[in-house]
Amino acid sequence: MSSRAAHFSLEYFPPKSVSAERALMTGAHALRHFEPAFQTVTFGADGSALDGSLDWPHRLQGLNDVPTASHITLRRFSTREAFSHHVEALWEQGIRHLVVLRGDEAPGENGEGWYSDVADGIRTARQAHDFEISVAAYPEVHPLAGSATADLNVLRDKQAAGASRAITQFFFDNDDFYRFRDRARTAGVTIELVPGIMPIVNFQRICGFAKQCGAQVPERLTKAFSACRDDRSMHSDVARRLVQRQVADLAANDVDAIHIYTMNRIDLTADAIRAFQAARPVAEDGGQLRRVA
Ligand code: FAD
Repeated sequence: MSSRAAHFSLEYFPPKSVSAERALMTGAHALRHFEPAFQTVTFGADGSALDGSLDWPHRLQGLNDVPTASHITLRRFSTREAFSHHVEALWEQGIRHLVVLRGDEAPGENGEGWYSDVADGIRTARQAHDFEISVAAYPEVHPLAGSATADLNVLRDKQAAGASRAITQFFFDNDDFYRFRDRARTAGVTIELVPGIMPIVNFQRICGFAKQCGAQVPERLTKAFSACRDDRSMHSDVARRLVQRQVADLAANDVDAIHIYTMNRIDLTADAIRAFQAARPVAEDGGQLRRVA
C-alpha cells in the first residue's frame, strides 16, 4: 500500500449563462473546504468559448485560492503562434499548470493543423515556461487509437515530453482501470495515473458522453437507473451509492488520487470526496494507519 496522502482534484467547465456562473462560483467556493490538491477548467470542447477558457481558470483561482490548471486543446489553435500567445496569457494570469490535449474534431474541421502530436504541444508550452503538465489517458483505449499498445506509446511520448500526470477518461468498471494501470506500468509509464470519476448527474446524458468517448456503460447501471424512471430523488440516491462504491473500491486498491468531473455540481461531488477520504488510509508516524477525516 502506498504511503502517500490521499488527494483529489476537481474539474469544472466554463459556464454559459449568468445563473450557471453563479452556481459555479458558489459550488467551487463550497468545495474548497474539502481541500482539493488542484482544480481544472475545461477548454472550448464545442469549438467556442476561447475567452471563457482564458478567463475562468484565473477567476476560479482568485475566488477559492485552489491551484488551478487550464485545459488547452491544440486543435482549437490554427497556428503555433496563436497557441503560444494563449499559453503566455495564462502564465501572465498566474496559471502554472496545463492539461494539454489534442481535442476532438469539430464539425466541418479537417486535418490536424500546426502540431505533430500532443507531445509537440507540451514541448512548446514548456519551452515558454516551467508549467506543470497533465495529459489524458484511456483505460478502455481511445476509440481512434490503432491498438491498446499504440495508445500507451502515445502516453509514453507525452511523458517523455514533460507530462507528470495522466488523468483518465471516465470509466464505470474499476477493473478497466486496474488492467490499464498494470499495462501502463509494464509499458514504462511511470507518471502518476489518476482515475477520472464521473458522478452520474443525468444517466441519459452520461450514456451519450460514454458513446462518444468509447466508455462502456455496464448493464447493472442501465438496470439501476431504468428502475428510477422519472423519480429524481431515487436517481440521486442510485448515483450517490454508485460513486461512493466506485471511489471506495479504488481507495482499497492502492489508488491515492482521483480526479472528479464535477459537471459543475456540488452534491454528488461532495459525496464522492467524502467516500474517498473515508476509505483511504494514509500512513503517518512510523506506519501507523489512520483514516483521512
Ligand atoms: P492524444 O494523446 O493525441 O491521443 C490519445 C489517443 O487517441 C492516442 O492513442 C491517439 O493516437 C488517439 N487519437 C486521438 N485522435 C486521433 C486521431 N485524430 N487520429 C488517430 N488517433 C487519434 N476535450 C476538449 O475539447 N476540451 C477539454 O477540456 C478536454 N478535457 C479532457 C480531459 C480529460 C482528463 C480527458 C480524458 C479528455 C479531455 N478531452 C477534452 C477530450 C480529448 O480532447 C479527446 O479525448 C481527444 O480525442 C484526444 O485527446 P488526447 O489529448 O488524449 O489526444
